[in-house]
Amino acid sequence: MTKLKYVYEALKRASSFLQEHGREEGAARILLQHELGLSYSGLIGAMRDEITEAQFKNFWDTIEKHAKGIPVQHIKGTEEFYGRSFQVNADVLIPRPETEELIEETLQLIDRHMIKKELAIADIGTGSGVIAITMKCELPQAQVTATDISKPALQTAKQNAEELNALIDFRLGDLTKPIENQKWDVILSNPPYIAHAEAPGLSDSVRDFEPHNALFADNEGLALYENMAKQFPKMLNKPGIIGFEIGYQQGVAVEKMLKDAFPDAFVYCKKDINKNDRMVFAVIE
Ligand code: GLN
Repeated sequence: MTKLKYVYEALKRASSFLQEHGREEGAARILLQHELGLSYSGLIGAMRDEITEAQFKNFWDTIEKHAKGIPVQHIKGTEEFYGRSFQVNADVLIPRPETEELIEETLQLIDRHMIKKELAIADIGTGSGVIAITMKCELPQAQVTATDISKPALQTAKQNAEELNALIDFRLGDLTKPIENQKWDVILSNPPYIAHAEAPGLSDSVRDFEPHNALFADNEGLALYENMAKQFPKMLNKPGIIGFEIGYQQGVAVEKMLKDAFPDAFVYCKKDINKNDRMVFAVIE
């Protein structure tokens, strides 16, 4: 490899390399920021600075990893969610921006429909903990409980909660099982929802590196919504709010499940910023 001297040259070379390997070239900037410990504007300002050989070597190692499909978030070990930094690893789903929209809408619903401040909020299948922890950080007076069937996922979520000073009651177990005997004001979940048949169409970064128990579900990806919707009537207070993240083709089916479980509820589907059906909410007055 010919020697290079400047930051901008490293970026240019890495961007082309990633592009040649069918990856998003934008990942080069993120990984370079990571190696140099710079913000976006910091990197722009440093473009004409010299890059040391050691820095370039480390940077190039991460570029090669990503070219092989390892997600940028696994290389960095973190991902931003709702303005906060969360640890991620191969045991948990990498938080997605769509899930930030679930948080946003839920906070608005709470503002509109809930009077008391000490809400009991449950996050089912918490993974890295992003939903539970973000809700606790945004609504410090709420009592937040989070479940997951995966021990290592729960361990990661606990570490994230500690780092962000969020007091959460974490419970190991399948879906609603650990929280069924209690009443909740708000129940949220972004469960695995991809149909097994869709696996071949996923990017290898997702399919080969993210945990399958966080991605896939039976019955066209609908199995876990069905299971939860059946349990919810005995678990929800009035007023109560349910918020699900869903796959873009699942809106009608999931709306129906919640409508069947709560005939008097206001149930609606909401699109994400890419205009795909992405969330279903039920508001029980
Ligand atoms: N609740 C976590 C998230 O939204 C994990 C979701 C999952 O593993 N399906 O990122």
